[in-house]
Amino acid sequence: MSAVTFYHEGELVAVLTAQPLDRLLDYKAPEGGCLTGAFVEVPLGPRKVLGVIWGAGAGDYDIAKVRSVIRVLDVAPMQDGMREFLGWVADYTLTPLSAMLRLATRSPGLGDPVSMRKVYRLGRGAPDRDTAARRRVLEVLQGYGSLSFTLKELAEMAGVSTSVIKGLVKQGVVSEEESPRDLPYPGLDPDYGGVELTEDQAVAAAQLRARVASGEYGTTLLKGVTGSGKTEVYLEAVAECLRKGRQALVLLPEIALTAEFLARVVERFGASPAEWHSGVTMTERRRCWRMVGEGGAQLVVGARSALFLPYQNLGLIIVDEEHDTSYKQEDGVIYSARDMAVLRASIDSAQVILASATPSLESWANAEAGKYERLVLTSRYGAAELPEMRAIDMRAEKIPGNRWISNVLRREVDDRITRGEQALIFLNRRGYAPVTICRACGHQIGCDHCDARMVEHRFSKRLVCHQCGESKPIPEVCPSCEVEGKLAPVGPGVERLAEEVAELFPDARVAVLSSDLFGSARELKAQIVAIAEGAADIIIGTQLVAKGHNFPLLTLVGVIDADLGLQGSDLRAAERTFQLMRQVSGRAGRVKKQGLALLQTYQPEHAVIRSILAGDEEAFWQAEADERRIAGMPPYGRLAGVILSSPDVKAVFDLGAEMARHDGPLQKIGARVYGPAPAPIARIRGRHRVRLLIKAEKSAALQGAISAWVAQFRLPNNLRLQVDIDPQSFY
Ligand code: ADP
Ligand code: ZN
Repeated sequence: MSAVTFYHEGELVAVLTAQPLDRLLDYKAPEGGCLTGAFVEVPLGPRKVLGVIWGAGAGDYDIAKVRSVIRVLDVAPMQDGMREFLGWVADYTLTPLSAMLRLATRSPGLGDPVSMRKVYRLGRGAPDRDTAARRRVLEVLQGYGSLSFTLKELAEMAGVSTSVIKGLVKQGVVSEEESPRDLPYPGLDPDYGGVELTEDQAVAAAQLRARVASGEYGTTLLKGVTGSGKTEVYLEAVAECLRKGRQALVLLPEIALTAEFLARVVERFGASPAEWHSGVTMTERRRCWRMVGEGGAQLVVGARSALFLPYQNLGLIIVDEEHDTSYKQEDGVIYSARDMAVLRASIDSAQVILASATPSLESWANAEAGKYERLVLTSRYGAAELPEMRAIDMRAEKIPGNRWISNVLRREVDDRITRGEQALIFLNRRGYAPVTICRACGHQIGCDHCDARMVEHRFSKRLVCHQCGESKPIPEVCPSCEVEGKLAPVGPGVERLAEEVAELFPDARVAVLSSDLFGSARELKAQIVAIAEGAADIIIGTQLVAKGHNFPLLTLVGVIDADLGLQGSDLRAAERTFQLMRQVSGRAGRVKKQGLALLQTYQPEHAVIRSILAGDEEAFWQAEADERRIAGMPPYGRLAGVILSSPDVKAVFDLGAEMARHDGPLQKIGARVYGPAPAPIARIRGRHRVRLLIKAEKSAALQGAISAWVAQFRLPNNLRLQVDIDPQSFY
């Protein structure tokens, strides 16, 4: 990458814009000149668009027609490492650079003039009446000297309502001022709080601190069962990073987890970090983006796209629950945030910590191969032990066809309710019933736009397509045979399970945790907190509950269908089932009492079910790794998917077949093409989808070959071609 250069007014510069043009554009540097990396506004046709000075202009365009950069924006220039990172990700994922810039500037109004807002700092005098709440506010402000805070921050830090602060403002004890909106975030104190670590936690923390202090790149897999203190340990690495004056990023797989995590950051560092995810308001997003660039944010907690913020000096990236599939972005720029975190850290000489109770096979293999360090926390914190795990053989259970809770599970749940403990009933299926069938003609109601069946959601009284989100009212008559009143639900979703639970345990308090039942992340968080405090006897949940929440009273987990993930032909089916079952089971007995996890299954002798029950992880990974190695599958070989989609079914198959025939560039690197085949979901939103799969050896130069291969074909109008390097899901 070229070094940072200053361009004098009128000199030619190459500008990268976020517009879908596949090249850099030449402009003349503006009055006052500009530096490489500067964010600028440039004219493009009749419009003004955002761009970044990428380097010297190419000079291959009629100089008389080259226009001038309009102005340099008042934000920190893009760092050299960031430009390098965007370039690498673009090359790796075969994405145009312009799309990378769009991803890196997802914050509205970057060039707007600075707007103002109210902030609060220590005023004069003493309050007329001294209350505990008022004292806390003053203590916080005194503790920070002359710093000012927003109303919300101050209220949170002091643990008081905003009216307490307003009361103090009236008396002048706290002063209210106008200040630029994009304030730096409150300083985090690495030595503010923290628990006394157990011996193996302390050993792990010391190693991580040393790695962070080294100032070099490295990746560590931090493995430990749920509740073993991984979070406590990696917060020590964050503390060290803050002491070194570098920025830290914590990636979480699920927004619903952020609230719980933020509370822990406040406990550990005395203030809240910057947040970056879809639940953050646009003004806060802008503040976060700008402050990350100026160094006014020391710690960012966010979703995968937080990786593309313009860090000034990034020293540490934590990927919590690193095995989670939501780290793979599946639309637009298709990338794995976990893998790109490692790339970014290697460019910035930063450390990565991949934390998980059940690592992905990729990370496990990288640790085995010595590319990643491995740290293991073996015991759970406190007296808690891993739950006992047992299978319930559903073939031997005598229960009616429209019931899913076995007698064994029922007795155990009853037992927990009597003892005042909690039980979790887990089913990874949203809605009421996965299939609606006509009992007269056998027709199953499908989505009009996709090859997917509509899922009944009784709560919202609609049929919903989980593929495209389309919904419609539940019809009275069968759309196929037009007989009335014969449509019936088949199979359970969590809503239907809730009905069964209400019948079996009429006096129990039941809570259903499913992402679609909550209007906002805030509501969901409130519900989770209430449950943790004992507001429910039985929790019915989807995958959402598998992710890191603490329910101290929970001592029983019942998995309704442990076989669910084993169906289908996904390369990672076994791995995912293993991880999910371990994660869910890990919810039981997290605090003091030993928990029990019961897995309902029709195939108790299946190798995956057996290894879950035996708790023999190494054996599972080893067996799974051997199978993949023999088959040349990831992580021992490489895969890429190409999805062609179009409203015209013939066009996608024709092009797919032509691509498979003209595979010269792929043959050159020894890669093979499979397909075209209908994608597992062959139609989404009215577009037909065909998939080609490319398999190559690990060392093959896959991206270059795919580019050359794809470049041979002309895409008909309306046909979209998407490349997915290292595909995760097989849709
Ligand atoms: P994990 O991230 O591995 O699931 P956590 O770090 O969340 O584990 O720890 C589980 C619970 O135990 C948390 O409430 C945490 O605060 C507590 N905990 C872990 N280690 C300690 C310790 N050494 N001292 C006090 N509490 C601890
Ligand atoms: Zn659909």
